[in-house]
Amino acid sequence: MDANIVVMGMESVGKSALTVRLLTRRFIGEYGDIESIYSHSFIVDGRAVTLNIWDSHYSQDFSADSSLFEKKVRWADGFVLVYSICDRASFNTVSWLIQTIKSNKDCLSTDKVPIVIVGNKRDLHHRRTVTSEEGRLLALNTHCQFYEVSAAENYHSVLMVFHGLVDRLKDAKLTT
Ligand code: GDP
Ligand code: MG
Repeated sequence: MDANIVVMGMESVGKSALTVRLLTRRFIGEYGDIESIYSHSFIVDGRAVTLNIWDSHYSQDFSADSSLFEKKVRWADGFVLVYSICDRASFNTVSWLIQTIKSNKDCLSTDKVPIVIVGNKRDLHHRRTVTSEEGRLLALNTHCQFYEVSAAENYHSVLMVFHGLVDRLKDAKLTT
């Protein structure tokens, strides 16, 4: 299976940290602002999967030029929407992104757009401002999958996010 994935969310929520964690299994700490598309192959349930992962830049998605945003949404088969559990504004942004993506994706059933919501920085629980329950509820109401992870502390949880998305992609039958 081959699929295009875009990682979106406000700045500093950990989009690059998640992407780099998947690709290298490592947490580096600082990632800069480079926007890239990475190709990553792995095995899910005995099947080879190749994901083209666009680690996208926040400012581009919310600039006046919405055509770039639309292009990105058209390109993508699936979405990883990231917020920080310490940043309520980033949670609200994910909620907004879900609506915007769904209104841009012209599929028959918008409930089937493969979207995974990720609450990152779980290790910073002492600074938490968004509860797990709120994340779960948002996912339930929008027919998305939900994970809370720490890109900093846990490779396995990050891997689960992308495995979850692959499952959603299969369900949506966007790819075979
Ligand atoms: P991006 O702008 O969404 O790509 O965010 P980055 O991946 O560049 O991360 C922004 C900052 O948050 C960096 O200083 C990271 O080290 C930090 N960061 C990312 N993920 C985590 C995490 O899970 N826990 C903690 N404590 N810090 C994180
Ligand atoms: Mg980044």
